[in-house]
This record gives sequence, C-alpha cells and structure tokens, in this order.
Amino acid sequence: MARKRCIRIGTIVIGCGNPIALQSMAASKTTDIDATVETVNRLEAAGATIVRVAVDTGRDAEALAEIRRQTHVNLSVDLQENYRLAEKVAPFVDKIRYNPGHLHHVNPNLSWKEKVRWLAQVASDNDLAIRVGINCGSIDPVHLEAYKTARLSGGKNLPDPFAPILNSAIEHTAWLDEIGFARYCVSLKDSDPETVILVNRRFAELRPDVPLHLGVTEAGLPQYGIPKSSYALENLLSEGIGDTLRVSLTVPNSEKEKEIFAGKKILMNVATGKITRSYPSCLPKLDIVSCPSCARVQNEAFVALAKKVQEATAFAADVPLKIAVMGCRVNGPGETDDADFGLWCGADKVNFKEGEKLVGSYSYEEIVPALVARLKERLVRKG
Ligand code: SF4
Repeated sequence: MARKRCIRIGTIVIGCGNPIALQSMAASKTTDIDATVETVNRLEAAGATIVRVAVDTGRDAEALAEIRRQTHVNLSVDLQENYRLAEKVAPFVDKIRYNPGHLHHVNPNLSWKEKVRWLAQVASDNDLAIRVGINCGSIDPVHLEAYKTARLSGGKNLPDPFAPILNSAIEHTAWLDEIGFARYCVSLKDSDPETVILVNRRFAELRPDVPLHLGVTEAGLPQYGIPKSSYALENLLSEGIGDTLRVSLTVPNSEKEKEIFAGKKILMNVATGKITRSYPSCLPKLDIVSCPSCARVQNEAFVALAKKVQEATAFAADVPLKIAVMGCRVNGPGETDDADFGLWCGADKVNFKEGEKLVGSYSYEEIVPALVARLKERLVRKG
C-alpha cells in the first residue's frame, strides 16, 4: 500500500499517522467580521484545529484580512462558485477548498484543468494546502448525467453507480499530480452515510496515499446528524480511512461547537472500540436532510424551519421518503434533486418542489402546512 502523504495546513499536518484533525465552519458572512471572529475563536476553544469560512464576493474576500488578524486557528476557505477569489483570500488563509462541480460557473470557456492549474499555482505561491471537495449534491456536470442515471435506476443502468463521483475525484487528483502539486486532500461527501462509507472505501483503495477529509453532508439536525456521522465516520476511521473530519449539523451559529463535541465523541468511540457498526436504529425511515447553513443563508429562520419540518412530519416517521431542507437558493435546487420533497430558502420565501416538479414559493409561515398537506396526499396515494 502506498504510504499516506503528509499534508501541512498552516500549523498542523494531516495524513501519515498524524492525529485526526477536527474541523467546523463559521456560518456568518465574512463581512460580519465580529460575528465571524467570535465563532472562529469559539470553535478553536472547543478543539477545532481548522475552521472554514466561505466567500462569494470580493468584499467577502477582503474581510479575511481582518479576520486573520483577530484569530489564530488554521483557516480554510470555501471558494463556492468563484474560483478566482482564491487569489484575493490566499494571503489570509491556510487552505482553499474547491468543488469540481462548481468550477464551470466562472470563465466557462477555460477548461477545468487550466483552472486547477491556476489554483495550484496560487496555493504554491502562498504556502496553502488544497481540498478537492466532491459533493454528491453538486457533481461536476461532465459526470452529472451518468450519476443521475445511475442513482435513479438504483444502479441498474450502470454496473457501478458511484463511478461518476470516484472518476471525478480520480481525475482531479491525477491532474494535480501531473502538474506537480502534492499538497492536497480529498473529500467525498453525501447525505447518505452508507454512500459515504462506500465511496471513501473505494477511493482509499484506489488512492491510499491521499489524505481524506471525512464528513456526511447535510446530515441535518443533531438528532439525525450525530448518529449518521457517527455511523459513517467511526466505520471508516476504524479501518484507518480518514485524516480530518467535520460533523455537519443544522444548528445556529451560536451552537456550532456542537460539531466539534460530536467529532470528539466519534474519535473517542474509535479509540475505545465502541464503533456504530450498523445503520442507527434511532433514525426514522422518513429521512430529513438539511444543510449546516453557511454565509449564503439569507434568513436565519432556516434552522428553526428545519426543526419545524421535523416536528410537523413526525406522524410520517415510519414512511421511507426523503425531505431535503436547504439554506439557500444557490445550491438548494441541486442539493434537493434526489429528495421526494425539497425546500430551499430565500430571504422571505421558501421554494418548494415535490420530486422534480416545482410546487411554488411560500412564506416562512405557509411552507410547513403546505409541505404537510402534500405529504399527506402522497401517503393517501401510496395507500
Ligand atoms: S445549501 Fe446553501 S446555505 Fe446550505 S450549506 Fe450549502 S451553500 Fe450554504
């Protein structure tokens, strides 16, 4: 087996036998410097060694100079859809995360290879690590159709339903190797913990040398997100797979340290052999996935909405359907694609779709009754 690489991220090193690094993310806009600094420092005090922030605009990027001045923990930045912001944030962070599925938005005439070459150069010039962050909710368009076909057919139309995600990871790592940039790690996330286990195992077999960042994306409210993350991450870590992790939870910014506490519990369980071996029986069949929120959330009622959805749909807990509640209009539509009911939040309205059909746009007061009515209709139709 190839020896795991050591990847330095600011003051820490992941991979090659180093301790598993705990991460979380500040959900505030970076332009709200006080709120972001407060969250970053609180997460560090809780035990995070890397804290991520997200940037969308030049102003968001400029705010990082002051955030860097007032914090000490290693900072990672999510470039969202605008990879060109890397140049602006690079002097103030330790790692950049790009999503192969988001590289096509800016400069569509440039190939992804040229964009990654540029990102690697920015990272080299500024002493940064890179995370290639693959997310099943935002697959690279090159692989998207094959992925959708495979998932919708339950894998019947392709011998390997996860080949598109793995191929995306493999082609990006191969390209980074080819251009001589070795200081990278990879993440392969999905909202289904079984998928997270499977794709990370498969990737680790193919590239045992590449450090892995583990996580279940959109794991949801703590009562769902903690058991889902424990199941996926404890199994992988006990097999020696994973070098850094984030437990994503739908909680307000003021409670983000719950992600670190949950991560510590996972590490403790692995160290003491108390691994969650099978899919947690405490999880209802009605799967409610929700994002952990980030700087893109336009209405903080999003977290309360996720809780209301959980409470109002408790009557259908034994029904195997999926409801996705997402915090923004940018990623919301894509991230709800494989859900039976999808909600994504704007400033005043919540968009609602059933399957692929857009049902409408509702106020924060109207949306839960509208969802419940559709869910009841669905149950009657199912008999
Ligand atoms: S869905 Fe939107 S708000 Fe939620 S984490 Fe993703 S980008 Fe942020």
